[in-house]
Amino acid sequence: MNAAYSLREGAFKDVMESIKTMSKSAEKWISKIPKQNWASAYFEGSRYNVLTTNATESFNALLKGARELPIAALVEQTRWKLSDFFQYRQKAGRKWTTRLTPNAEDWLAEQCILAGAYMAHQCGWTVYEVKSKYHVDEVDLEKKTCTCRLFQTMGMPCSHAIAAMGLDQRDPY
Ligand SMILES: [Zn+2]
Repeated sequence: MNAAYSLREGAFKDVMESIKTMSKSAEKWISKIPKQNWASAYFEGSRYNVLTTNATESFNALLKGARELPIAALVEQTRWKLSDFFQYRQKAGRKWTTRLTPNAEDWLAEQCILAGAYMAHQCGWTVYEVKSKYHVDEVDLEKKTCTCRLFQTMGMPCSHAIAAMGLDQRDPY
């Protein structure tokens, strides 16, 4: 899981080395699977840091018993359940008073706190270099990318991007 969740290539390689130390056969087995299919450091799309199929499994459990129905009834049952699900979420969402979901607000607040400890330097029209305790990351605010890969993975600015935005008092929202 640590290898799968590592966003930086260096961190991924460190974890793979520790797997190799523990079990050469495990490392050999996992190395046969293309990295871009399971490791965040090499995945090219947006996963929003989700690596499991838990949501799908939850929905499958919701339809338990409906699978035995004829196809038209199964589709109707699925539509009915989805409608309930969306109504429930919509009612919950109406109570929110923030611009983002509560989880996204918490995540953004955490990134803002981290950004306060970084040094940002503009080195191009939209490109910034951001120094933290252990890394130097490059942020491109136009492309919405960061070498830490959280910006592109989460679809929201990482702490480095927020530090870069801070130079021009840009709003992370
Ligand atoms: Zn970053």
